[in-house]
Amino acid sequence: MNIKRLVKPEVRGLRAYEAKEIPCRVKLDANESPYGFALKVPKIETNRYPDPEALKLRAALARDMKTGTENVLVGNGSDELIYYLITTFGGPVLFPTPTFVMYGVIATALGERATGVPLTDTFELDTDAMLKAIRKERPKLVFLATPNNPTGNCFETGSVLKIVEATPGIVIVDEAYAPFATEKGMAALLPDYRNMVIMRTLSKIGLAALRVGYMAGDEEIMAEVNKVRLPFNLNSYSQACAVEALKDRKSMRGYIREIASERQRLMDAMESLEGLEPYPSEANFILFRARAGARKIYDGLLRRGVLIRNMDALIKGCLRVTVGTNKENNAFLKALKETLKK
Ligand code: PMP
Repeated sequence: MNIKRLVKPEVRGLRAYEAKEIPCRVKLDANESPYGFALKVPKIETNRYPDPEALKLRAALARDMKTGTENVLVGNGSDELIYYLITTFGGPVLFPTPTFVMYGVIATALGERATGVPLTDTFELDTDAMLKAIRKERPKLVFLATPNNPTGNCFETGSVLKIVEATPGIVIVDEAYAPFATEKGMAALLPDYRNMVIMRTLSKIGLAALRVGYMAGDEEIMAEVNKVRLPFNLNSYSQACAVEALKDRKSMRGYIREIASERQRLMDAMESLEGLEPYPSEANFILFRARAGARKIYDGLLRRGVLIRNMDALIKGCLRVTVGTNKENNAFLKALKETLKK
């Protein structure tokens, strides 16, 4: 039996998301928070299915987003919500590039047309090119990650709103990294734009193990997406732990402040190194270009026990490092300096 020939052509051409466990001493490759929560694992009736509606969690998240519980949907990570959105509305799907690769991967896997519109040289939205592509493609869904992954910058609110206004379909503003940004996101504008959805995740703020992503927007949009949601998509432990963790806002804010200040320190240190060009970041990671080539830096760091992300395939010569603890960042800087000297 030829398995490859059985696979749908769209899937045959895909590559699995790069999420292998690579042994290392310092892990700065996946935009996780270096700070976890010491949660007491709640008592769960293991013989029962989870709350299919995740009501307590959705209510807590809705309070945050200043909206109603019925305006919020939770997913097993925001990845799952991207899947559900594209399953519900289909394509064409439009996004700027480079950006989070799963928008394109999921659209392709589901047999939908996916179009990337290049960002400018400074990684800003090319608003005119986006508007032109919107007129041509008439997209059902537009994904805008702000701050963007892997570039780290926020898009201008004015440009995002122009795109929202011009899109015949729905614009998903993916605010996975908004907690680290100076501007606190666009949730306050939700009532003014019915075709805008705000997507967020707990993965970057210390709870990646739980796999909790959420989105907020128009009730009818949420109700339509809810039809394709798999029953019990979020397990009982994740629901209960997330509700507990969300009560501890003080720790969460403290960790975020710490990461933002370490980001500045890393940025300053990297800027002073010959042959490196770090890009300004509003997220919990820094993208940088290395004159020596991405592969050499990646390998040199890994040999010294520090794992970061090689972005060469997406942006030539670039790598992405997640901001860790003070100690982890020092280990990264030390390994980086040694690698550059070689
Ligand atoms: N959106 C963006 C922009 C991301 O970078 C990521 C994670 N890499 C996600 C969504 C997915 O996050 P999760 O599935 O962990 O919620």
